[in-house]
Amino acid sequence: MNDCLFCKIIKGDIPSFKVYEDDMVFAFLDINPKSNGHTLIVPKKHFKDIHDIDSNTLNHIIETAKKLMGILEEKLACDGFTLAQNNGEVQEVKHFHLHVIPHYSEEQVKNPEEIWELLK
Ligand code: 5GP
Ligand code: ZN
Repeated sequence: MNDCLFCKIIKGDIPSFKVYEDDMVFAFLDINPKSNGHTLIVPKKHFKDIHDIDSNTLNHIIETAKKLMGILEEKLACDGFTLAQNNGEVQEVKHFHLHVIPHYSEEQVKNPEEIWELLK
C-alpha cells in the first residue's frame, strides 16, 4: 500500500524506534505512548483489520506479543500489560496493529530514545 503510514515505517521510509523484527512482523515504539515502552506490532504484509488478517499471521503476532512482554518486563521492569487492537471508527491507522502497553506501579517518565536504548 503506497499511502499507508505503517507500510512506510516497515520499509524504513519513515523513521521509527524498532524494538523487534522477523520475517513476518515489525514492532516499534508508539509515537504517542500511553506508558514507557508502548509498542505496536504490525504484520509486514498489509492487512487492514481483524477481519482482513489471516489466522496464521494473527497467531504469530500474539506469539510475538508474548515474547515482547518478556523483553519489556526484563528491561523496563513493568508490572503488567494491556494488549489492545482497534477496528473501524476507532482505528486511526488502517494497517492491522496490536498495541502492547506496559503498566507500572510507579512510572518513571523516560524519553523514547532512553527507552529504545534499554530495549536494544
Ligand atoms: P489506532 O487508534 O489505529 O489503534 O492507533 C494508532 C497508533 O499509532 C496510535 O497510538 C498512534 O500514536 C500511533 N502512531 C500514529 N502515527 C505514528 C507514527 O508516525 N509513528 C509511530 N511510531 N506511531 C504512530
Ligand atoms: Zn500498510
